Amino acid sequence: MADIILDNLRKSYGNTDVIHGINGQINDSEFVVVVGASGCGKSTLLRMLAGLETVTSGDIRIDGVRVNDLEPSQRDIAMVFQNYALYPHMTVFENMAYSLKIQGKSKAQIKDAVQRAADILEITAYLDRKPRQLSGGQRQRVAMGRAIVREPKVFLFDEPLSNLDAKLRVQMRVEIKQLQKRLGTTSVYVTHDQVEAMTLGDRLMVLNAGKVEQFGAPIDLYEQP
Ligand code: ADP
Ligand code: ADP
Repeated sequence: MADIILDNLRKSYGNTDVIHGINGQINDSEFVVVVGASGCGKSTLLRMLAGLETVTSGDIRIDGVRVNDLEPSQRDIAMVFQNYALYPHMTVFENMAYSLKIQGKSKAQIKDAVQRAADILEITAYLDRKPRQLSGGQRQRVAMGRAIVREPKVFLFDEPLSNLDAKLRVQMRVEIKQLQKRLGTTSVYVTHDQVEAMTLGDRLMVLNAGKVEQFGAPIDLYEQP
């Protein structure tokens, strides 16, 4: 749980401005979905939040702390990627354990945390498998598991469902929403899927060419003439 403040956030590549001074607050435990046409800056915004992309000017503050210059590992965030980004040579258990190991957690703590997350996501039967031995949906669960074991302040999702078939996408969408409500982890979720945005988002941040066009509850945005 954490609040995130975006204060006149800008990003340029050379002379090209791609994020033009975004202001906004994402509240504690809130699920914000960032939507907008391809190229409007969704990924760039998310990657700046994650620390995978530098900030050109302005500030990102998480719980009042300016994180612009912090490494990804220092931000207390966990990101779920579109391609899952699992370590292919590691088992599911090791994939989920990895970040906890880096943090210096004990073997008992790691085992406990991984097993709890695996229970929630119903992947306990696959802990000894390698990612290549899993279906797309199972890989997606492992990617979620890897994020939740860390109990981060913030989840960042980059189109995490777009590689799944339609049926599984709906199922995982429901599960992600339930999981987020249960954990109360502040979440920022990027998608170009309108239905996904409407069902998941407490609020939607609509980007247009690097600017916030609208930021509100789905019902308020879509009832406008
Ligand atoms: P979205 O995720 O909404 O599709 P992006 O954040 O990926 O949009 O991209 C926003 C804009 O920034 C696009 O015009 C894109 O071409 C440009 N862009 C993204 N990454 C780079 C880069 N590394 N160098 C130059 N331009 C980039
Ligand atoms: P090492 O420090 O030797 O590399 P590992 O990272 O392989 O250890 O495993 C850490 C701990 O988690 C060990 O105690 C190991 O027995 C346990 N462990 C590994 N895989 C599983 C699994 N699939 N289910 C339960 N516990 C496991």
